[in-house]
Amino acid sequence: MFNIILFGPPGSGKGTQSEKLIATYGLIHLSTGDLLRSEISRKTPLGLEAKSIMDSGQLVPDEVVVGMISSALDANPVAKGFLFDGFPRTVAQSEALDKLLALKKTTIGIVLALEVSEEELVHRLLNRGLTSGRSDDTNEAVIRARIIEYQNKTSVVADYYSKAGKVVSVKGEGTVDQIFASLCSEIDKRMSI
Ligand code: ADP
Repeated sequence: MFNIILFGPPGSGKGTQSEKLIATYGLIHLSTGDLLRSEISRKTPLGLEAKSIMDSGQLVPDEVVVGMISSALDANPVAKGFLFDGFPRTVAQSEALDKLLALKKTTIGIVLALEVSEEELVHRLLNRGLTSGRSDDTNEAVIRARIIEYQNKTSVVADYYSKAGKVVSVKGEGTVDQIFASLCSEIDKRMSI
């Protein structure tokens, strides 16, 4: 099993690159943002609770997302590996993920950190908001709030995995194919160890 965390701020291209990576490496895509939006569209109690938090640009509680990930891992017992996108977003989530993976006798193989400037992030998210139907992408104040949440709570997740020597930074600006090639080259190096 080879498990990957695709890490980076909102708008850094995690969703776009995830689609290409899962197709190439046969991984199961676990995006907490997508899982939460599915709960919202199905109007579940969890979705109703999460919607207002997401619309304000804040993080939903750790136990909510950890519960969703735990169920998704259990639902895929024979996976070749998982690609985590938008998770973990706090150190508590990272610790919980390590424990869940240890129970399955596996671990994180690599954390790929996409590096994109803040002005480029805001520009991309406002553009995405024109077509994505995502209410959190249409308001610049909400976008800035998400970036601040990232800086305050999520950027430390990279430090957590750096201690284990698992983080590789990749330039997240350029064409989609250029960035994808950089990601693949880092994965291939680690997979062959
Ligand atoms: P983006 O990274 O582009 O902002 P996501 O789809 O990953 O988009 O997340 C959208 C929102 O969903 C976040 O702003 C947050 O409110 C919530 N969310 C997603 N993943 C998590 C997580 N792991 N922990 C807490 N909240 C999350």
